Amino acid sequence: MPRFNEYYLNLRQSYLFAEIRRRTKVFADAHRDVRLIDLGVGDVTQPLPPAVIRALHEATDDMARRETFKGYGPYVGYEFLRSEIAAHDFGVRGVKLGVDEIFVSDGGKSDSANLQEIFAQDCVVALMDPVYPVYADSNVVAGRTGAADESGRYAGVVYLPCTAENEFQPSLPDRHVDLIYLCFPNNPTGAVVTREALKRWVDYARAEDAVILYDAAYEAYIVDAAVPHSIYEIEGAREVAIECRSFSKNAGFTGMRLAYTVVPKEMRGRGADGKTTSLNALWTRRVAMKSNGPPYIIQKAAAAVYTPDGQKQVRALIDIYMENARIIGAGLAAAGLTVYGGRNAPYIWARTPRGVSSWDFFDRILAEAHVVGAPGSGFGPSGEGYFRLTAFGSKEQTAEAIERIKTRL
Ligand SMILES: *Cc1c(COP(=O)(O)O)cnc(C)c1O
Repeated sequence: MPRFNEYYLNLRQSYLFAEIRRRTKVFADAHRDVRLIDLGVGDVTQPLPPAVIRALHEATDDMARRETFKGYGPYVGYEFLRSEIAAHDFGVRGVKLGVDEIFVSDGGKSDSANLQEIFAQDCVVALMDPVYPVYADSNVVAGRTGAADESGRYAGVVYLPCTAENEFQPSLPDRHVDLIYLCFPNNPTGAVVTREALKRWVDYARAEDAVILYDAAYEAYIVDAAVPHSIYEIEGAREVAIECRSFSKNAGFTGMRLAYTVVPKEMRGRGADGKTTSLNALWTRRVAMKSNGPPYIIQKAAAAVYTPDGQKQVRALIDIYMENARIIGAGLAAAGLTVYGGRNAPYIWARTPRGVSSWDFFDRILAEAHVVGAPGSGFGPSGEGYFRLTAFGSKEQTAEAIERIKTRL
């Protein structure tokens, strides 16, 4: 028998959404007549924008003709898409990026899980708590964390608690760390970061020779002018920050799979001998080895997001979800809960009633309102005592779910 990677045994037993599905199935099997509404898993429900559908058809036709057929594409994505990204997502905000700093991929999930590979095994990782579970888990199986204690904390991770008490803003680490995962607008809390606060992180990273892995998957949901859309809006960030973006939550690409990561040319890492090397070059090497880029058809569809029609249609999708967010926030508040988020993000983060744990509240909402949410504790130890609902349901289902919670809780 081969030896396996024992670090996998350090992962907490069940992935959060698997446990949500398990509990939901147990309840549904025992109550066959009940119609559940799912506001738990953060998956979009609106169909793709018409401009994207048109591009999909056209790209499919390209594949049908010898003259326009495409085989293997560039590992890092087609230039037609990367130049649109540079112009529309960054150029319009005064951020200049070269196309060779943009790496197109099949997902923000895989990018945020894979980035740790180009850093040394003994790098110390800092994580917002609670946060998207992928950052922790990818470092667990890479052997950087050790095992978790009963509360789910890994000995080797520096946790940055984000609770109502600090307005969901992580404090700078009180010790040296090498890799810092920041996610703003945040999943699950819905919190955002101001320019001033983000500047403090960039300054910290510069002073400590650390790297910030900045996950901006929810950038399109930002409405407040004081909130930066990209970390590169902050002076000095090009030397210390990698940014991940995705088409999943703005254009509804969760089933299409398209995202990208930015690694600026200025970013450098240090070897054991003290010599430095370009992180952009390392990441290029890694992508060339492990990827052939997302399908041509999908990249064409993504490029359509940047057309005037595409932009309007994506805006309309986001408006639908943000109206849901408003309904959820107002409804939970009317039900007596304290609610956060939902303004610059499609997540509502609510405090559970005093003395009720996240999972107990999950079970109660499931049993009484027949609504599936997500327990805050599943996103990290500091999420205990909170509960998340997503704004990604349909308008009708969202309204009905909130009505049920208001009347039955
Ligand atoms: C949804 C999400 C992503 C993007 O995931 P994809 O793999 O691109 O679908 C990235 N980060 C966070 C925090 C998310 O919630």
